[in-house]
Amino acid sequence: MTSTTYAARMRFHVDGWDPTYGSSVENAENSIGDSTAKVTPNIELAPADWKPISPSHVPDPGAVLFVDGVRRVEARIWIEQPPSTINGAPNATMALCASYAAGTVCCCPGQGAHLLTTESRRGLFTTAPNAVDVPTTAGTYQANITPDDQEENLAVLLSTALQRRLGDLEILAAANARTALTGHGVAEGSDLLVVDGPLRGCTHLPRALGLIKSHRTAYLPPDLHAMIATLAANERSPVFLMGTSWDRHAWYLRLPCTPGAPWAGVVRLECPADIPTAEAIALANLSQLVMPRYASCEYKDTRAPQNLVPVAGLERELRRRLGNPVLLSRALRVAAAS
Ligand SMILES: [Zn+2]
Repeated sequence: MTSTTYAARMRFHVDGWDPTYGSSVENAENSIGDSTAKVTPNIELAPADWKPISPSHVPDPGAVLFVDGVRRVEARIWIEQPPSTINGAPNATMALCASYAAGTVCCCPGQGAHLLTTESRRGLFTTAPNAVDVPTTAGTYQANITPDDQEENLAVLLSTALQRRLGDLEILAAANARTALTGHGVAEGSDLLVVDGPLRGCTHLPRALGLIKSHRTAYLPPDLHAMIATLAANERSPVFLMGTSWDRHAWYLRLPCTPGAPWAGVVRLECPADIPTAEAIALANLSQLVMPRYASCEYKDTRAPQNLVPVAGLERELRRRLGNPVLLSRALRVAAAS
């Protein structure tokens, strides 16, 4: 049977556009599997010697590349399942139509932050085994079929599938960024790549950092955790190792900000676990030079200072590239009716 035949057989209905779809579970993924973190603090300093570390003199990177992605659920749809009715009620399963995009900005000497790479996709996220791609006048929503899991809430399952696809796209954007840098006059091997979010999936990329802006879990032992609140602006914690579902070097850094809550302006940075300690420490020192430079101001951004200025600009541009949500929703309705 051809996919066209299947397409003809997949009937669906559109619920409409509601910007809150998926937003309640949007931030749930980062903490998955993190509750059983294993922390090894004696990497840079013995736990008894832990103290805030001041910035050191390190050379500037040739360029700083920031990687980020955005996602938006366009519509909730209902895909009809055989048999078409069960006990007289329509038999349909809920699915999500979403757009997502990832990209990089370059901050190299002599010019402001500029767009380097972007990738965008539209996807149909579903557990329906009969799902096929949905072509619309605004582009094709590619079918992403996730195995059903009775233990998991369907909305969370689909949102997690979307987040995974976005993660893949961010990895692609990050990998392409280095190639796209040719012609920017940056010495090879001198750039630094900063991923907005966990570094998972990007640990194979050289000179790459993950930037985590919110802290729901206290990973460090209580006495070391308490030290983080004493960091002054631009100071960082010693480097430690942490392992959840994956391992990495990590440290905390306080960005310059108006003094307030104990952890105001604190970010966590991550780099791969399998690089030499000296290299991880060099990256930690470099982050103290680079990150504060791009910290946002409170009066310009409510997520300041952790929401870095080039990243905020990249997110705006990526959202613009997702397209007009009202038109996309309309295109889906037309596709459903045809
Ligand atoms: Zn550049």
